Amino acid sequence: MAETIFTKIVAGDIPCQRVFENEHVFAFLDINPLAEGHTLVIPKRAVARLEDLPAEELAAVTAVLPQLAKRILAATGAAAYNVLLNNGSEAGQEVQHVHFHIIPRKKGDGLGFRWNKKQVTAEELTALAERIAAQG
Ligand code: AMP
Repeated sequence: MAETIFTKIVAGDIPCQRVFENEHVFAFLDINPLAEGHTLVIPKRAVARLEDLPAEELAAVTAVLPQLAKRILAATGAAAYNVLLNNGSEAGQEVQHVHFHIIPRKKGDGLGFRWNKKQVTAEELTALAERIAAQG
């Protein structure tokens, strides 16, 4: 099995603040949190990219997200949260082991993120949708 900093955390070779664990899934506090309660949720097996993670393992990870997020909100008093997965270095992925970020949000927390909307025509959207749907 590939080794990553996260498999070392799962194995207990690197310390972490664990908040959840089952057969396939492990969750722990991010060491450099964007907000109080920022948590990483990972499959125990190291797979770098989302599209390479077998469906059952992805299902195991996503199945715990809502329950875990609820616990994090209850513990931190946050009102909302973002779920984020950086997939590939261009998307900001630094650790080559699939991980969902749960990032608690509070009104006025100043965290924000850029959501720069582009203008496109209906024809451009249609052509693009057809190109995507025709793949694979
Ligand atoms: P990403 O940029 O999506 O790959 O996110 C990697 C995340 O892992 C970052 O938010 C880091 O702060 C976090 N991280 C890296 N090393 C550790 C560690 N030893 N314990 C907890 N979180 C870590």
